[in-house]
Amino acid sequence: MSPSPPLEQLLSERTAEGLLYRKLPQGRVECWACAHRCRIPGGKKGICKVRTNEGGLLKVPRNYVGALQVDPIEKKPFFHALPGTRALSYGMLGCDYHCRYCQNWVTSQALHDPASEESGARPRDVTAAGLVRLALENKCGVVTSTYNEPLITSEWSMEVFREARAQGLLTSYVSNGNATKEVLEFIRPWVDLYKVDLKGFNDKRYRQTMGGTLKPVLESIERLRAMGFWLEVVTLVIPGFNDGEEELKGIAGFLASVDRDIPWHVTAFHPDYRMEDRPATAPGQLNRAWQIGKEAGLRYVYSGNRPGEVGTTENTYCPSCGGLLIERYGFQVSQNKLGPEGRCPQCPASIPGIWKVPGRSPNAVKAIAETPRAEEALAFHN
Ligand code: SF4
Repeated sequence: MSPSPPLEQLLSERTAEGLLYRKLPQGRVECWACAHRCRIPGGKKGICKVRTNEGGLLKVPRNYVGALQVDPIEKKPFFHALPGTRALSYGMLGCDYHCRYCQNWVTSQALHDPASEESGARPRDVTAAGLVRLALENKCGVVTSTYNEPLITSEWSMEVFREARAQGLLTSYVSNGNATKEVLEFIRPWVDLYKVDLKGFNDKRYRQTMGGTLKPVLESIERLRAMGFWLEVVTLVIPGFNDGEEELKGIAGFLASVDRDIPWHVTAFHPDYRMEDRPATAPGQLNRAWQIGKEAGLRYVYSGNRPGEVGTTENTYCPSCGGLLIERYGFQVSQNKLGPEGRCPQCPASIPGIWKVPGRSPNAVKAIAETPRAEEALAFHN
């Protein structure tokens, strides 16, 4: 049996000309799929290593996935969008960051770290229509680009999301937020939900340990909100890294200054990839982060990755009357008192979020929400 071609070759065979770039003199191109805005000479790749200047054209990933799974939408995490719905979650390969603690490093660090290829990173062929068919067969209400940075593969995801929309599905990005204004305008017609991973509030650390900068992420959060995406923000609270009071207060204060209704998820770290030198986040640390969020004025703050260990901070309460609206245990919704209009049943308060899909009856959404939920490996087919 002949050996499998190297990953770099497999990925270069699965590309098409991109849309998020312009041509520069001397055969160079400028890519604006992410805030790095790489200026790439002929024959070279951008920082993400999956967008390549081939003869003056920018070639970008298309028609494959590197990971595919059905997840509860709460795992993304989205807590204010169709609670209990299944999300067909796919990732391609590569990333514009290189976080030392990445929990999806096999997909995200493809071509950056040889360990990714050695650990099985491979493209698996699938069309946009094939992915959406899988979503429908698996009773998913949402299609999500996740597991690697969605921004850098936005052209193909918009092909997928057009198909998804035509079938009445919602669409979402799970992203580091290192976006440009142009890429957000490009995806705005087709993306409903956007989760930003705000990894701290320290620019120096963004540069040194992730390969990005803080400013474009903060600007993206402001833009996403202003442009009308449904936005939720997550911060993985890492002991000795970003869990200082001042840093967490900085994040919470910034989010509250943008909109007090942005849900903020403070989630527990566990040792992974190249950051195995510290313990997992303790429930008490998460509860302190939660408290900081509430003190900053955020109305919806959630503790994550410590199911059942963080008191009532996994639940949604009405900010007006204090009544319980959605009770959760980890990614499971154990009780949901909100109707499709998103109104508190005890008082007239309206809870921000997406509680129904336009054009789809509430009963159809309910049927999806009530199908058995579990993480499932999927068979790949077209
Ligand atoms: S997506 Fe970002 S990292 Fe990749 S080539 Fe474009 S600007 Fe560079």
